[in-house]
Amino acid sequence: MLAALTLAAALSVPSPVAPETRHDPKIPTLKQVVGHDLGEEITSPDQIAAYLDALAAAAPDRARVVEYARSEEGRPLHVLVLGSPERVARLEDVKKGLRALADPRGLASADAERLVREMPAVVWLMHAVHGNEISSPDAALALAYHLLAAQGDETAEIVRREAIVLVDPLQNPDGRARFLATNRPGRAATPDPEPAAAEHDEGWPGGRANHYLFDMNRDWFAQTQPETRGRLQVFLEWYPHVAVDLHEMGGDSTYYFAPPARPLNPHITRPQQQWLEAFGRAIAGRFDAAGQAYFVREVFDSFYPGYGETWPLLQGSVGMTFEQASARGLVWRREDDSPLTFLDGIHNHLRAALATVETAARGREKLLRDFLDFRRSAIAEGEAGPVRQYVLEAGADRARLLRLAGLLAGQGIEMKVATGEIRSGTRAFPVGSIVVPLAQPAGRLVRNLLDPRVSMDEAFVKEQDRRRKKRLPDEIYDVTAWSLPLVFDVECAGAGVLAGETRAFLPGAVAEEHALAPAKVAWLLPWGSGTAAAVAEALQAGLKVRVAEAGFRLSGRAWRPGTAIVRVAENPENARETLGRIARRHDAEVAAVDTGYVEEGVSLGSGRVRLLKKPRVLLAWDRPTSSVSAGWARWVLERRFGQPVTAVRVSSFRRVDLTRYDVLVLPSGDYGSVLGEEAVKRIHEWVEAGGTLVALGEASRWLTREKVGLLDTKTELRDGKPEPEPSREEKKEGEKPPAKDKDTKPEPFDLEKAIQPERERPDAVPGALLRVTLDPEHWLSAGTDGEIHTVVESQRVFAPLKLDKGTNVGVYAKKDQVVGSGLVWDDVRDLLAQKAFLMHEPEGEGHVVAFAEDPNYRGYAEATELLFMNAVLLGPAY
Ligand SMILES: [Zn+2]
Repeated sequence: MLAALTLAAALSVPSPVAPETRHDPKIPTLKQVVGHDLGEEITSPDQIAAYLDALAAAAPDRARVVEYARSEEGRPLHVLVLGSPERVARLEDVKKGLRALADPRGLASADAERLVREMPAVVWLMHAVHGNEISSPDAALALAYHLLAAQGDETAEIVRREAIVLVDPLQNPDGRARFLATNRPGRAATPDPEPAAAEHDEGWPGGRANHYLFDMNRDWFAQTQPETRGRLQVFLEWYPHVAVDLHEMGGDSTYYFAPPARPLNPHITRPQQQWLEAFGRAIAGRFDAAGQAYFVREVFDSFYPGYGETWPLLQGSVGMTFEQASARGLVWRREDDSPLTFLDGIHNHLRAALATVETAARGREKLLRDFLDFRRSAIAEGEAGPVRQYVLEAGADRARLLRLAGLLAGQGIEMKVATGEIRSGTRAFPVGSIVVPLAQPAGRLVRNLLDPRVSMDEAFVKEQDRRRKKRLPDEIYDVTAWSLPLVFDVECAGAGVLAGETRAFLPGAVAEEHALAPAKVAWLLPWGSGTAAAVAEALQAGLKVRVAEAGFRLSGRAWRPGTAIVRVAENPENARETLGRIARRHDAEVAAVDTGYVEEGVSLGSGRVRLLKKPRVLLAWDRPTSSVSAGWARWVLERRFGQPVTAVRVSSFRRVDLTRYDVLVLPSGDYGSVLGEEAVKRIHEWVEAGGTLVALGEASRWLTREKVGLLDTKTELRDGKPEPEPSREEKKEGEKPPAKDKDTKPEPFDLEKAIQPERERPDAVPGALLRVTLDPEHWLSAGTDGEIHTVVESQRVFAPLKLDKGTNVGVYAKKDQVVGSGLVWDDVRDLLAQKAFLMHEPEGEGHVVAFAEDPNYRGYAEATELLFMNAVLLGPAY
């Protein structure tokens, strides 16, 4: 064994498995299957899969491997199901019983009692959603081995009898593979504990995220990634009573487990909080006995429903996060010079997991009863208030409504669709509107996703206000708003008792299979999310598509600006079939017209009907882009809208012939360190010749720099003054303190005033939804109704463009209306009101399009994603 590692191993955390425990030799050890012992090597995704198969093969009566998804890079994701032979022999029956327990409607109380007595406690352990958090998958393998092989071990015995354990050893195989691809080649002959050593230093983008660089621990309700969608299906198949997400954090920390930090999501119930305490105490007991340090409550909260902890909580499970200090390799030197080994992390995770499965097994009946009560009380709550259901109104963009409904259905939420007009009191909703009843077992999740706002503990907010005034970092862990009707821009109304006919909503059943109507002159598609996706695909398929700059009236129907037009005469004969197939896939509405004679507005043959280009899109990749922003943009283009894109590392920018591209997307980032004068000059020339430059977030700030000069505005400081150039720190004229009059007495010293910094950016908005007013005449706002909400998570405030420079296509609403949802400090709100969100600056034949915030936020910001796609699809045509 290597010297440094031997030293580290000597100081290692002792194994939580008692040394005298006997293990059944018929169950293979990790070493027998993959060649290394626990903690000697970071087990690769392939080796993990091989070991699961070996375990299941050795104990087919007690273990089953289920593949639940494939990652974007083609790697399988698994759960290993561990249970007693009696239960494993009839797993489908067991699952049926568990699902019955999850839906108390129609469940007689005697049957409910029987299920509580007979059903196992189901504990779902999910490991390493962040691929560079390396110790938990190996801990998962150790736990599985122990539960299958340990003999005469009290914990293993009771867990086998009372529980089913679902072990998902690796939630993010692509991320772990990426981590290993830098760790192994970077490794010293003797693993180097130096934190800055190549083996610990991952480079862009690191192994945390998946292929599309999404943080999948934010994706639970958005379900943008195949890994997340697969996990939700596992949940809905089993309805586990305990769901644990095992992570790693910085190497100088210790270990974290429940109960979570404030703020708590207000829909988490009292019994759930008691369980969080109970699990926390049980885990603490094991850590105390081993002399291991840990902390609870301080950092990781349970507010945002997209976490792997909170989403299960809102369905009634006891959801928890565990965090182990990361060795980010085999051994890590802590600040106090003590070594932290990979094996230490494995042992701590194993310790916490053993305490969890044991506590669940011992508390089985109460756990099941509390779960049942959660689901029952959710229904009762939904029946109690004045609002009994939400109605998602069928509006101009049916595709977006269906996408939202599909997203809700994918997480086990029941809906109905109106088969005629429906009414609540005096309010009427059109046919096709979707009704989401609150009285359902997942009602608390419904409230979380559809309520316009979810309240945050007032004392917590007050404390954060106090902290920011002292310039202490805030304790807000994630975003403060996510309301899906706002980010999708779908009308959502609370309703009481409804009158009218509905039927159950089944996702996918709505797209009717009839062919497109034949047209003599053209097919028209009202612009929107579905049409943008259909048009992107139609252009790839070789169809000629045009868009109308302005509105018109044809055959008695009003068509808004941005309407897409597919002329029969200029398209191939099979256009009807091709367009029909594409439109159906994206739920885009298509109308056939037999005349081009308009009653009002632009004609179909007008010069103001523009031919779209099949856009050739270049995306800046790698440093200095923000990896999430780059990943979201790539995913939105490739996967949401089917638009091919070439991702080029910024350091290779000089190799690209820009004239081969129509659109250049700059994800959030400060490009000043990589793109010099020559690159900036090339971008200018390319835009002047007709290119469309699309800048997101921090990239837009870069465009305003004097040396860049692509956007004629400035970001603002806290006092509303323009932010100085980074290179120039000297005071400008007009900022000198006013000369004092000799005769007046000096003002009394004001400490509060004296300590205020002179040049400071505004406080960050912690992920709120702000209302944006759009210019309906501008092509960038096609497909909107003139108002949307955007996620704001930054300190950026852009002064609006002057009229001679360009158009402020989207501006934040006035201060009394600007906050749609979430936390925005009053002074920041006042500063942001009526400032620029979406700017368009023409340059020569081309366009500079700048977003103040990231329009592709987490892939769920549907309404602003359309603005982004408008820039990409429409920019080259204007
Ligand atoms: Zn993590």
